[in-house]
Amino acid sequence: MPAPVVMRDVTYAYGTGDLARPVLRSVSLRIEPGEIVLLTGPSGSGKTTLLTLVGALRAMQQGTASVLGLDLAGASESARTALRSRIGFIFQQHNLLGFLTARQNVAMALELDPGTTEAERLRRAGDMLAAVGLSDHTEKWPDKLSGGQRQRVAVARALVGQPGLVLADEPTAALDKQSGQEVVHLLRDLAKSRGAPILLVTHDPRILDVADRIVSMEDGRIVPADQPKTSSAPAS
Ligand code: ADP
Ligand code: MG
Repeated sequence: MPAPVVMRDVTYAYGTGDLARPVLRSVSLRIEPGEIVLLTGPSGSGKTTLLTLVGALRAMQQGTASVLGLDLAGASESARTALRSRIGFIFQQHNLLGFLTARQNVAMALELDPGTTEAERLRRAGDMLAAVGLSDHTEKWPDKLSGGQRQRVAVARALVGQPGLVLADEPTAALDKQSGQEVVHLLRDLAKSRGAPILLVTHDPRILDVADRIVSMEDGRIVPADQPKTSSAPAS
């Protein structure tokens, strides 16, 4: 199986001309099938920028990137849109729609999937919510759920479409220690069981143990980092 993510010598700057300031400098990153990679580093080091490039949420400037087989540097906007639909995104804030129930929020992620009926989408959403431990909460509005429950809905929404890759940006930042750990352990277990690799940006030291590998960034570059203390070698 080819590596789902291969970034080579990626350089990126915001602003143009004299105002251009590189925030990524010759970054190379490779993620193997099923691998869970944590990306850490100080605020402003370029983690979110790198994640949004991998997720085809912004256009490449310099370097090469292959994500789920798509060559990003030469990709059209429609090819990037198609790629995004094969990626599960989880953000710091859950981004659930307040006027939809938990189940409807999850089902919405399947709307681009042609050939599914609404009944089928709602059924799959219910199954996915059960898998994240929320079978008793499927018909609730987001504001009736706790922060940890909302982020579990976001995990269900990211995984329901059987993505080839999961990208998460500070998914525990708004959570207390226990619910943060619950959410990432759940995410890890579900992604592992489906063989989906994860790139997870965090500076939360409490969740580093979920990583197969930790990659550290500083000032737009990847620097050598400590490996996880526990023996969490990639599950085969
Ligand atoms: P991190 O996620 O590690 O905190 P970011 O990738 O968000 O880092 O930001 C890297 C650098 O790029 C920071 O200096 C930040 O201020 C700058 N930056 C981020 N987004 C933008 C933007 N949309 N326009 C201009 N500068 C930005
Ligand atoms: Mg960030």
